Amino acid sequence: MNVDATHTIALDKAHHVHPQSNLRQHAENGPTMITHGKGVYVYDDQGNEIMDGFSGLGCMSLGYHNERLANAAVRQMNTLPFAPTFYNRSHPRVAELCGRLTKLAPGDMTRALIQCSGSEANDTAIKLLWYTNTAKGQPERRKVIGRIRGYHGNTVATASLSGQPHMHAKFGLPLPEFKHTELPNYYRFHIDGETEEEFSARMAKSFEDLILAEGPDTIAAFFAEPAISGGGALMPPKGYWEEMQAVIRKYNITFLVDEVVTGFGRTGNRWGSETWNLKPDMVTCAKALSAAFFPVSALMFRDDFYADMMKNSDEMGTFGHGYTYAGHPVGAAVSLEALDIYDEIDLVGHVRKVSKGFLEKCYAMQDHPLVAEVRGVGLFCGFELMKDVKTREPFDPSWKVGELVQNFAHDRGLYLRAIGDRMSFMPPLIINDDEIEIATERFKGALDDAWAVVRGKI
Ligand code: PMP
Repeated sequence: MNVDATHTIALDKAHHVHPQSNLRQHAENGPTMITHGKGVYVYDDQGNEIMDGFSGLGCMSLGYHNERLANAAVRQMNTLPFAPTFYNRSHPRVAELCGRLTKLAPGDMTRALIQCSGSEANDTAIKLLWYTNTAKGQPERRKVIGRIRGYHGNTVATASLSGQPHMHAKFGLPLPEFKHTELPNYYRFHIDGETEEEFSARMAKSFEDLILAEGPDTIAAFFAEPAISGGGALMPPKGYWEEMQAVIRKYNITFLVDEVVTGFGRTGNRWGSETWNLKPDMVTCAKALSAAFFPVSALMFRDDFYADMMKNSDEMGTFGHGYTYAGHPVGAAVSLEALDIYDEIDLVGHVRKVSKGFLEKCYAMQDHPLVAEVRGVGLFCGFELMKDVKTREPFDPSWKVGELVQNFAHDRGLYLRAIGDRMSFMPPLIINDDEIEIATERFKGALDDAWAVVRGKI
C-alpha cells in the first residue's frame, strides 16, 4: 500500500460516515479503497483487479470508462455548468431530455421531472400524488402501498414505502400513510403443492384484502419494481403481474412502476415494464439513465396528472416543490449522451445476446449444495441460499452465509451483493461472453469456499 492510500484510509476511518454499511466493521477494518476502474473492472489501492458483478449499485451500465460520457460532461461544464429550472427558466439539454424520455417511456407519459436520485424521483411522486389528489377534491387519498422487502429509496417517505426492516427500526418508520403487501417470493413462501399461478393469485388476494381493510378511497398509489432488486433479486412468479394489475385497475389505484434498476436494458428490454407487460400511470428511473456518470433521475407521468397540478398552480401561483439541482445541465447532457450510446451500440440487443450464456451459467449453479433456487432474466440474476433445499429451511442468520459468499467472491476478484442469504448478480450491461465466463467461475469458486466452511456446521 502506498503512503497516500494509508493516509486516505485513515481519513476515511476517522471522518467518513458510510451509508448502508456496518459501522462497527468500518471502525475495525476500514474501507476497501477503490481507486479507478475500466470496463467491467475496478481496482483497489492494493492493485487488486475486481470484476464488478453488481455494476456499482446496479447502475454502471456502460462500465467504468467512457470518453464520450466524460467529454459530454466537460463540454456542458464549459458551456453552461449550471442553470436553475425554477422560476420558469430552462436550458436546451433538459428540454431535450424530457422530450426524449417521455417518448421512450412505457405507458402514455408526457411529462418528466428531472432530479438527482431514485429516492428523489419516488419521493416527489408521493408528493405529486398528494398534491394532485387535493386538486381532485380527494385529499384523503394519501396511503401508499409498497411491498415487504421492496426498495424505493431513503428519504423519510421512500424509506417508509420501502419494506426493509433495517430502514425502519430505530428510525421510527414507517410513517403511518405507508403500507406493505406481501413479498412474491414463490420459492420461499409457497404452500406445499401450490403452483406459481396459485401463489400469485394468493398474493393478489392479500393485496386486495389490504386495500379493503385500509379503505380503497384512502389509497393513493401502489409502487413496485418490476422485479425486486434490493429485496433479494426476485423475479415475479408466473401470473403475478396479471393478477396484481387486475386489482390495481379494479380499485382505480395509481400504479407507479419503479424502473430505477430495471430501466435501460437490465432485463433484456428497455424497460422491465416491457418484460412483464406492466401498464404504469407513473414511472421513475435513475441509475443507468446517465450510466451513473452523473446523478440523474426522472419521474414521468401522464397529462391528466399535469392537468391537476395546473389546477393547484392556478390557485396557488407556484408549484411548491423543487431541488436546486433539478434538471442539472451536466446531468442532462450526460444522460442524452448515454441514451445515444445505448442506441448506437444496441445495448438491449447486446443484453439479449449475452444473457443467454449468462443465465445458462447461473442456472448451472442451481446444483451447488448451498443454492436452493436461481432466478434470472437478462443480466439480472438472484440466488437463494438455503440449508435444506427440500424442506426450505434457511441457514441460521448468525452464520451469515450470504456475506461469506460475498467475501469469498471478493477474495477471488468478483463483486456480488449478499442480501441476507440471497445473492444478487447484475454485471454491467456491456459485459462480454469471456467476462461472463470469468465472473461465473469466480462465483462458483466462492460458493465452494463458503460450502467448505458451512458444511462442517450442518
Ligand atoms: N428504487 C430502486 C428500485 C432502487 O434500487 C433504488 C436504489 N438502489 C432506489 C429506488 C433509490 O435510488 P437512489 O439510491 O438513487 O436514491
